[in-house]
Amino acid sequence: MSKFFNAYMIREEDGQRQSSLVQLQEADLPDEEVLVAIQYSGLNYKDGLALCGQGIARRLPMVGGVDLVGEVVDGGSSDFKSGDKVLVNGWGLSELHWGGYSQFQRLKPDWLVRVPENFSELETMAIGTAGYTAMLCVMQLQANGVKPEDGEIVVTGAAGGVGSVAISLLSKLGYHVVASTGRPQTHDYLSALGATDFIDRKSLSEPGKPFQAERWAGGIDTVGDTTLANVLAQSKYQAVITCCGLAGGADLPASVLPFILRGVRLIGVDSVMAPQAIRQKAWDLLDKHLPREKLTELTQVEPMSKLGSLAEDIIAGRIRGRVVIDVN
Ligand code: NDP
Repeated sequence: MSKFFNAYMIREEDGQRQSSLVQLQEADLPDEEVLVAIQYSGLNYKDGLALCGQGIARRLPMVGGVDLVGEVVDGGSSDFKSGDKVLVNGWGLSELHWGGYSQFQRLKPDWLVRVPENFSELETMAIGTAGYTAMLCVMQLQANGVKPEDGEIVVTGAAGGVGSVAISLLSKLGYHVVASTGRPQTHDYLSALGATDFIDRKSLSEPGKPFQAERWAGGIDTVGDTTLANVLAQSKYQAVITCCGLAGGADLPASVLPFILRGVRLIGVDSVMAPQAIRQKAWDLLDKHLPREKLTELTQVEPMSKLGSLAEDIIAGRIRGRVVIDVN
């Protein structure tokens, strides 16, 4: 381990949050059991919020990055040994605990998942927290009985990270996927991932009637606010809609009518504190169902030095698919 290494840190200067590349030493790292040499982290919407100073980090200074993959350098007295490949999603990284935008990090063994045998380190971060959350949403649709023959599944925020992986998975599983996007220029990309129809983001984001014509058998919503309200209002009898995001806002200006007249089910999805058994299942299913060529298609790799502009881009909805951050 070199004496100094790079990290991307959120700090407060003159009453304002700033994020920048800094140099750290091993002694600066938190007092956690497992030392990991990080290879890649990811860029998630939450990372964008954190780096742009819009909350998330609940103590400062904070090393950003809600996910990471790398190799154990020292496992302490845990079950992890030097050389083991491990990944982390969530668990409060970039909120309460230092995260993945660093060449080295110290982490609790309970947070670590072994890198699934059939994935490269790059692929695990191409999936990242966004893709693992997409899998959690698909698992909820399946667990609640939504089948391909039931009808159309809407994915909102389609060209983003969660949306892109969700479409790839749903399409592979035989579902008819309708992509809601505000970027018509992504239609070819979304078709290649498996979307068969499109709706304009605006048609869902403008306030609509509380009870509308039935269309969706299921949905994966990453946008929230009026978009989710409209999706619920257009849901078919006993449809299942998963809610994981707030790219359009945190409100939910909806009515109870879809729930009490059509038995629509709205299911919240959280990736951050999900128990290990569910994470393991999600990674096993990603291994089984996520087409690798689609993962390559939806991924770009960028250096840590670009995090400032990338964070602004993801908050502004300008990122397509997934961005992996090469921390070295
Ligand atoms: P991205 O920024 O990659 O994707 C979000 C997409 O939403 C954009 O690409 C855009 O898609 C659409 N969008 C952006 N701004 C707006 C807007 N103002 N109104 C309507 N649509 C908009 O983010 P991620 O995919 O990484 O995350 C998506 C959401 O899911 C975020 O809110 C994130 O915090 C949440 N999330 C939650 C997790 C959990 O554990 N619950 C875990 C991971 C993510 P398009 O251009 O196609 O319209």
